[in-house]
Amino acid sequence: MDVIDIFEESEAILDGHFALTSGRHSDRYLEKFNLLQWPTYTEQVCKLMADFGRDFSPKTVAGPTTGGVLLAYEVARQLGLRGIFCEPDESGGRSFQRGFQLEPGEKVLVVDDIVTTGGSLVETFEAVEKAGGTTVAIAALADRTNGAVELPVPFFSALSIDIPSWELPDCPKCKINMPLTQT
Ligand SMILES: [Zn+2]
Repeated sequence: MDVIDIFEESEAILDGHFALTSGRHSDRYLEKFNLLQWPTYTEQVCKLMADFGRDFSPKTVAGPTTGGVLLAYEVARQLGLRGIFCEPDESGGRSFQRGFQLEPGEKVLVVDDIVTTGGSLVETFEAVEKAGGTTVAIAALADRTNGAVELPVPFFSALSIDIPSWELPDCPKCKINMPLTQT
């Protein structure tokens, strides 16, 4: 099954009229947990991420909370590695807690769910550095910047999608008086 079909069948891509936290409006919305609630769908998408990451010979897979926990676990399971996660700390960034440790220079495959600005990926990258490891590659579930995000290591996303958004006066769904879709 194609990745786009998995997103649509699990309703991880929704069409409608959405108000974003930025105040802008959009006609598409990604709800990653509609996909991640299904282990069989998650397994299929993570296979693509694992196949990409394998070539970089990582020793550990790491992701940011919350979606990255599930992805790190499943990608690590498929690669026969361990999966760990970093979470927000008092510095405003992220760090590995709960006793997770990296060997000096340990090769890490970083995984994340939806890349919007790349913020949580950068925080995970920094958490790996702080812990003494080295990020060798990054794999994501979906890149909604459609390739615009710039990262310092090789990057793969299972789905690349452009989700347009508009300022209110320009929103085509407002112009046809479509009610906002509840999410
Ligand atoms: Zn609108």
